[in-house]
Amino acid sequence: MNRRTLLQATLGLCALPVASFAQSPSPAARLRIVAEPYFTTWFDAFYARALAAGAQPDLLDRELAGLAADPRVAALDSMQPEFARPVSDYIRGVTNEGRIAIGRARRGTVTAFGAIEQTYGVPRDILMGIWAMESGFGAQQGDMDILRSLATLAAAGRRRVWAEGELIAALRILGAGEISRSRLKGSWAGAMGQTQMLPSTYLDAAVDGDGDGKRDIWTSAPDALASAAHLLAKAGWRRGEDWAREVILPADFDFGLSEGPQLAPSAWKAKGVTRADRRVWSEADGAAACTLLLPCGAGGPAFLALPNHFVIRRYNNSLAYALGVGLLADRFGGGGPLVTPWPHETALSLSDRMAAQTALARQGFSPGQPDGVIGLGTRQALRAWQKAHGLPADGYLSPAMIQRLKGQTLTPS
Ligand code: CA
Repeated sequence: MNRRTLLQATLGLCALPVASFAQSPSPAARLRIVAEPYFTTWFDAFYARALAAGAQPDLLDRELAGLAADPRVAALDSMQPEFARPVSDYIRGVTNEGRIAIGRARRGTVTAFGAIEQTYGVPRDILMGIWAMESGFGAQQGDMDILRSLATLAAAGRRRVWAEGELIAALRILGAGEISRSRLKGSWAGAMGQTQMLPSTYLDAAVDGDGDGKRDIWTSAPDALASAAHLLAKAGWRRGEDWAREVILPADFDFGLSEGPQLAPSAWKAKGVTRADRRVWSEADGAAACTLLLPCGAGGPAFLALPNHFVIRRYNNSLAYALGVGLLADRFGGGGPLVTPWPHETALSLSDRMAAQTALARQGFSPGQPDGVIGLGTRQALRAWQKAHGLPADGYLSPAMIQRLKGQTLTPS
């Protein structure tokens, strides 16, 4: 007879109340976490996982006591806008003339840029582009409690493994004494400071850019910008190479080559693809493998993207984001607007986007699970479908293309 059974026998009680009476309180109860059961259940399991991951109990107890879910984070996480913002709209918004003027004025004020460029090989204008896109040059960093935001996301469950990993990384930052809890602020999605780095990215890539011995991406612009440069360098930034150039396509061009082969500029030129600014490629750029991008299909500007374009996507894996950073960089450095203007696109509804994906799948051109997100898989499937139907295969989902796809579904061939 073990001690608990003996105790139960002695007291003449049934197993359940004695067991809960005899056990020490759960971490959630001990740390006075008053929340819905889903949150306390998650918390107790997380506490054990954090200990197993090497977190110190006193650190967990100090930083997590009284933790509560943040309803604002839960609401933002579950929000799925009905209409996706078209790329052209997005680019016009992020590369507005006011922001370009601020960037041009600010780029000369960061004296650390010389050392940052020398150490990491990333041009200041690319870093200025990231700084502008991530926080409006440090002005909008987000003031949400990072631990609380990540705990809310982890407890909600949709991205639990990811959010718990970031939560443990945030606890490690606090445990190392790099910043106080009251200053560990950022976006609802866990991105922190002037260059909006996740806690794990901070641990991995943040550096001291101003020489004071601390990594402070919140209040030190040189620290934030050097950290972004370090991240891009680690992701494979190619020193001395461009990110992309606008190009002009010949009249009879095969649009199916977009997001396809990676060819040197000379090979693209043999297909009639020429630089919009009519300049010659530098030696380094001329040897690079370039991908053709048509963000708005055949009816908008075209770009040859160099490998560095895809390195920018390591910061945020979005074609539109990386274009925004690069185009801002060009304008900060004194460049003019594009030769081919951005068209005015129609916003597509979620139901239309999903209907298009379902129609493609039904006709044997699988874009992956229909989720309403028009990513590379959907564009590739659409290109194949367009090719099979004798249409220009630009992979661009326009309202007219959606109607065609839907019509094909209703009338099986
Ligand atoms: Ca510093």
